[in-house]
Amino acid sequence: MIYDLIVVGGGPGGATAAKIAAESGANVILLEAAEEGRYKCCAGGIPARNEAFSPIPHGVGDREITGGVLFTPKSGPMEFEALGKNNKGYCMFRTDFDKFLVNIAQDAGAQVMYGFRVKGIEFTNHGDVYVKGPTEYRSKCVILATGLGGAQLQRHLGMEVPPMISGIQAEFVIPESVIDEQFGNRVWEFFDRALIDHGIAWVFPKREAVSIGILGKGVKMTHFESFLKNSYIKDKIAGRKMKIFGGRKVWAAPIPDQLIAKPYRERVMVVGDACGTADPILYEGIYQARLSGKLAAEVFCQAFEEEDFGETSLARYHNLLLKHLYEEDLRYAYKFHHLLYHSGLLERIIEATFSIAREDPEMMQSTIALFTETETRKKSWEVMMSRKLKLMKQLGIKNSLRLAPTLLRASRI
Ligand SMILES: Cc1cc2nc3c(=O)[nH]c(=O)nc-3n(C[C@H](O)[C@H](O)[C@H](O)COP(=O)(O)OP(=O)(O)OC[C@H]3O[C@@H](n4cnc5c(N)ncnc54)[C@H](O)[C@@H]3O)c2cc1C
Repeated sequence: MIYDLIVVGGGPGGATAAKIAAESGANVILLEAAEEGRYKCCAGGIPARNEAFSPIPHGVGDREITGGVLFTPKSGPMEFEALGKNNKGYCMFRTDFDKFLVNIAQDAGAQVMYGFRVKGIEFTNHGDVYVKGPTEYRSKCVILATGLGGAQLQRHLGMEVPPMISGIQAEFVIPESVIDEQFGNRVWEFFDRALIDHGIAWVFPKREAVSIGILGKGVKMTHFESFLKNSYIKDKIAGRKMKIFGGRKVWAAPIPDQLIAKPYRERVMVVGDACGTADPILYEGIYQARLSGKLAAEVFCQAFEEEDFGETSLARYHNLLLKHLYEEDLRYAYKFHHLLYHSGLLERIIEATFSIAREDPEMMQSTIALFTETETRKKSWEVMMSRKLKLMKQLGIKNSLRLAPTLLRASRI
């Protein structure tokens, strides 16, 4: 069977791309390596702007999130309420969410094949692409949405693989009423270099479970185990069981650190984590994967109409990615990343920012937006930089001197 488009990978990036391409009338197949309902190691926190792609039904968005709590070794809990409809978010299991996204792609007309691991991609001289796995499929164009599980495929195609860090997490079963009382509808984020250098730890409440995890450069099981002993968490999870998925309680997974330089070649576009789209402030990547999937699908539709899947035609995907994801968001997320994780002052900056924000509504709104993504990263950066002197005053002379070279480097990103 010859398809117009083959999408490889049924995560948020691939499912969104398949839905949009199928809606345009193209003949699309989505090939997913795992079986239906696979567990994905992810805290599952998403901001409301995901609903721009498709509304999130009750039940899939397991718990509505309306605020957050920040912890540093010195200060905490620093609580914020994200008021307003667009500020809310959800915490959910990726098992449910990804299945929902694949189902809506299927409803739009995409064919879906689970349990199909793509092992090779080859091109013919007649302009076809052969996608090989348990069987073989042919198409005009391929969208690679394999997360970080398709590195070999990318390398084989002569394409870059993004640099990555790793996360470790487990889901603890806790009755809903206890979660309501002890955690509420708030995500907890820990900024503490004693827990993990160059990374964060979190507690994300779902309806009847909480995801507890840690991510960062060189993260190991020992980091995770010591986080579970944190004084704010230890008693709350004492005696609670971890959920088992695929025979395992504790899961680890990689997450990309940076966008690749060229996410396209003739007949191929790379989206989502495979392309390095995750935002490295809190390492969220679901929205970004969906946005890149949407943009790639739109470029596919144009190329399909023009019958041109050449490199120049698909380069439009890269331009759109730069315009809609990089210029006002990822670029500034990299600046924040540099400031937080490369200054050696992670917890001090969080404390100082929150302290300024308590007296300054605009700063508070921008700080909250780092979590809710209701403002562009550019706007949040501009607000923070306009308070640079206040920030330095909060940090004190010694820390400000340490901060200065990082700020200079961040400003050049
Ligand atoms: C510990 C942790 C916590 C996280 N928490 C959050 C969070 O709270 N919020 C957030 O927004 N992001 C979070 N992320 C990031 C988020 O999980 C990713 O950014 C997101 O899943 C990227 O979506 P994707 O579609 O690009 O890739 P994926 O979701 O990884 O999907 C890729 C799919 O491709 C399939 N695949 C791989 N290779 C092949 C192949 N050869 N053939 C066929 N199929 C293949 C895989 O089975 C998988 O289903 C977290 C990540 C980690 C590691």
